[in-house]
Amino acid sequence: MASRVTYDGSMKTELKNAVVFVTGASAGIGEACAFAFAREGARLLLAARRLERLEATRGKLMESGAAAVHAIKLDVRDNAAVEAAVAGLPQEWRAIDVLVNNAGLSRGLDKLYEGSLPDWEEMIDTNVKGLLYVTRAVVSGMVERGRGHVINLGSTAGELTYPKGAVYCATKHAERAINDGLRQDLLGTPIRVTSIDPGMVETDFSKVRFHGDQERAAKVYQGLTPLVAEDVADAVVWAATRPAHVNIARVLITSIDQANSLLFNRS
Ligand code: NAP
Repeated sequence: MASRVTYDGSMKTELKNAVVFVTGASAGIGEACAFAFAREGARLLLAARRLERLEATRGKLMESGAAAVHAIKLDVRDNAAVEAAVAGLPQEWRAIDVLVNNAGLSRGLDKLYEGSLPDWEEMIDTNVKGLLYVTRAVVSGMVERGRGHVINLGSTAGELTYPKGAVYCATKHAERAINDGLRQDLLGTPIRVTSIDPGMVETDFSKVRFHGDQERAAKVYQGLTPLVAEDVADAVVWAATRPAHVNIARVLITSIDQANSLLFNRS
């Protein structure tokens, strides 16, 4: 028979020395997560294509409290590289406790019938296939070890589709289905699965979406207060530090100037 938990307020999951793997840690939300987990004293396993950016933050992460930092150059779209990276980790980095599936992007803002196929491929390959590859490579080890937490970056775009964003929204709807499916498949294990679903966050996201067009990107955030990456990292760490018997399924988080992916308060 399952035992009843008596909550005493001290049951927070401790992340000191826990191995936390963050994909897409070279910028934005992923970088903010690295700092937030550093403050918890975690060991940070950081991945992105821009290894030099990961290396550049190493010192500051250690100053912020990280127990150790290990950076790897990784393109999550390349399954062979993902498998090799996870299998080839030094012994002391293999037992991943928390996986933050954050690497992702939007490309373009076009009517579906006018959309760019390379943009579609990049979003689907990164946000859906990349997330699956990393999950497949890491979660089997979590099951063997009988511990772990997978935290996926979803979006308000995974809840409500907006015009000219059908493909990006489709990738985040897929993330939602994968998040829910994984939680069902892990039922009966102690492994937790969470989706953190932010609305608009001011990062390089729009610059990437508009292929480097800074001016167009800046307009996205004009006349409103968006979330900042640290707001999202705060929710990620909150989910990770709940008591071991508590699974936060989804956190939908927007700034005060956003109601959903269609409705904004702009001055
Ligand atoms: P960002 O500042 O552009 O950062 C994206 C990160 O993903 C970068 O570190 C980038 O690193 C990494 N990345 C992209 N493609 C990759 C690949 N193929 N392999 C490995 N890493 C890759 O954007 P962000 O706003 O922080 O976005 C992070 C996540 O939050 C994404 O999943 C995004 O969909 C989600 N999200 C963002 C918002 C928003 O408004 N900003 C809202 C909801 C959800 P490299 O380029 O160095 O590889």
